[in-house]
Amino acid sequence: SNLTPESRKLVERRIALLGPAYRLFYKDPVEVARASGVLLYDSEGNEYLDAYNNVVSVGHCHPKVVDAITKQAQTICTHTRYIQKGILDYAEQLLATFDGPARHAMFTCTGSEANDLAVRMAKHHTGNQGIIITDEAYHGNSELSAGFSPSLGPYSPLGTFVRRVPAPDSYRIAPENMGQWMAEKVSEQIVDLQRRGAGVACFIADSMFSSDGIFSHPTNLLQPVVDVIHKAGGIYIADEVQSGFGRSGEKLWGYQRHGITPDIITMGKPMGNGYPVAAAVMLPEIVEKFGRDNRYFNTFGGNTVAMAAAQAVLNVIKDEQLVENSLKVGKMLREGFEALAKKYQGIGDVRGSGLYIGVEMVKDRSTKEPDAAAAAAVVNGLRARRVLISATGAAANTLKIRPPLVFSAAHADRLLTEADAVFATL
Ligand code: PMP
Repeated sequence: SNLTPESRKLVERRIALLGPAYRLFYKDPVEVARASGVLLYDSEGNEYLDAYNNVVSVGHCHPKVVDAITKQAQTICTHTRYIQKGILDYAEQLLATFDGPARHAMFTCTGSEANDLAVRMAKHHTGNQGIIITDEAYHGNSELSAGFSPSLGPYSPLGTFVRRVPAPDSYRIAPENMGQWMAEKVSEQIVDLQRRGAGVACFIADSMFSSDGIFSHPTNLLQPVVDVIHKAGGIYIADEVQSGFGRSGEKLWGYQRHGITPDIITMGKPMGNGYPVAAAVMLPEIVEKFGRDNRYFNTFGGNTVAMAAAQAVLNVIKDEQLVENSLKVGKMLREGFEALAKKYQGIGDVRGSGLYIGVEMVKDRSTKEPDAAAAAAVVNGLRARRVLISATGAAANTLKIRPPLVFSAAHADRLLTEADAVFATL
């Protein structure tokens, strides 16, 4: 390891203080000190290109977001049991971004909580228990949401009435009509849940299938899934924690690329550019009985500062045209990786939409055998050259490239040049 003695000492303290459940990125973990835009600096002042952080989606420490948080924190920060205008102004603008019928917005602190609330509501509304997810889904770390997050691994038990279907893997499966194919897989699970008397409360999926390996295409895939779920009395939940707020470059929301109208939409990560704020947005009929039978309060969810941060983020996305930038620079990056795939046999597939790109590493293009070691070598090789990415998918062999949306053409060039140099060493 090339860590400095100081950083090594911090790793030891971390293990001693935080215990064994935490994981650091990279063979040589980075001690971060400060950041701005898409650039990050370590404790020795070295500069890194951040091509991975989707939380600080409008750029690290964006001055307008920092300013909004600071000003609000200096004025008042309290919860949702008082009349406040900020939460209403934000809810109004957020809700206006969804096409179709009017919705309500409910605020939480994390994506896990948003998904937890969405599924509780699905169960209450439908009277059913079953939850259908994709094979390698990640939806959160609460008891309920971890129970429908198989990507946590074989020792993290799934809930009793949780059933899995394959993700729409455009590289390995790709049936002629993938939407129909997926709906059939969902139907099989519905039949099983009904036989056990649980019925189906919901289907929930990340609209870009991130932890399954980033499956952005084909678009307009999911209507047949919505149809079979509705026919069985369940609801469709779009998890937009990863795919939301312009990540896909085509639309503000990932589900919009599939032309569907989800019953509930959950979001988080980039919503406050690092300040904890998340939400579930639902059709009124879904929350009607739930709201009558339950009181909802979340001490920090929707607090005054959280709303100020979220409002500033939404403003910046619009003012700086970041959805458009995501589309433009994302396309450059994808084309760049496609060019590298002509040069390097280890690249089996390049996919993605906007600034969410998956580059799948394989041992052999004809067998498509996953090459996790190559992916790890690229991730660590890039880190050594001070470019930050990661890997995803069931076999952890898909490079995950997901920079803040303010990534420029010059940043894309720098990433591709460094990637070329690393691929050449494999
Ligand atoms: N859903 C998806 C698709 C996610 O990627 C994540 C976080 N990785 C979550 C939900 C959970 O969000 P949080 O960590 O804010 O609880």
